[in-house]
Amino acid sequence: NKQIVLDNRPVGEASPANFRLRVTETPPLQEGQVLVRHHYLSLDPYMRGRMNEGKSYAEPQPLGEVMIGGTVGEVVESRHPKFKPGDAVVGMGGWQEYSVVDADQPGALRKVDTTHVPLSYYLGAVGMPGVTAWYGLVKIIEPKAGETLVVSAATGAVGSAFAALGKARGCRVVGIAGGAEKCRYAVEELGFDACIDYKPHPDAHSLSKAVKDACPNGVDGYFENVGGMVLDAVMLRMNAHGRIAVCGMIAGYDGQPLPMAHPALILVSRLKMQGFIVSEHMEVWPEALTELATLVATGKLRPRETIAQGIESAPEAFIGLLKGRNLGKQLVKLI
Ligand code: NDP
Repeated sequence: NKQIVLDNRPVGEASPANFRLRVTETPPLQEGQVLVRHHYLSLDPYMRGRMNEGKSYAEPQPLGEVMIGGTVGEVVESRHPKFKPGDAVVGMGGWQEYSVVDADQPGALRKVDTTHVPLSYYLGAVGMPGVTAWYGLVKIIEPKAGETLVVSAATGAVGSAFAALGKARGCRVVGIAGGAEKCRYAVEELGFDACIDYKPHPDAHSLSKAVKDACPNGVDGYFENVGGMVLDAVMLRMNAHGRIAVCGMIAGYDGQPLPMAHPALILVSRLKMQGFIVSEHMEVWPEALTELATLVATGKLRPRETIAQGIESAPEAFIGLLKGRNLGKQLVKLI
């Protein structure tokens, strides 16, 4: 069983040298346990926070242990009555090829149906990132038909689900992404009404002009994934009583400071701004996953994936995700 462990903590930017490959035997199964062969590992921005020592909303990843991560795969051996070899399952197997799971632990392992939804989608559009988009949109932004919504990191796992969910509610949905190719993909394949490339803009003022052009009626709901200049630019275009769901601040994950340029706009425009962590809202997951699975099954949400091959490629692919080299959900294929 090949595994990737966290070897040392990053100072500033994370790098592949923070990780180490290790090969072990999988232990024999105890009663109630299941052996899962992973087909895909999910790489997600939250993992960057776990690499740091200081406590954030989650505990730091211990050194020398297998990196945390969502996985999908198949049961190869089972000593649990509810699971049998061949079952397709989703869990938190970590950065390794196989995992031994205590299947009775709440949320440890869930069977999934791959008839209408590809297995890998349970790590993206019909998984944690999809539910993240759903929660911020439905519970914080609370959109009405005809409103204008904006999302940053628009072509990523969360952003692409946000587009389909926003369109399903009759909204104008505008993305912000890095590069012309991502923006073309956003409009042509993800269903965005418009997409703004932030890269050519030197500052928030310049970017906010592009937001104004793409959102002639202003912005009613903003789903924030990035922070910094992008947040400043959209805040300048928020309508009175606009809602901002603060989901991520990836521009600061390597420790960059992210000052907010116009905090007074929260008062002046009577904005609601609320952060959230999707794993604290397990009560919405069934409803959200049902809607997301239906969007996929009906062809309204078919985002692309960026797939690295083999567990050895996980560290490099993870750093690529933090640098925007992925187009859509970043996965590692393990078989
Ligand atoms: P993505 O698939 O969107 O990948 C990350 C993307 O972020 C990159 O592709 C890149 O897109 C963009 N990015 C990276 N660095 C910067 C930068 N300096 N400035 C602007 N954009 C940058 O990841 P996810 O969809 O999985 O996650 C999106 C966000 O949602 C993250 O911030 C993540 O932390 C957050 N999140 C929060 C959760 C919660 O519970 N609150 C749960 C899940 C995710 P581009 O090339 O377009 O810049």
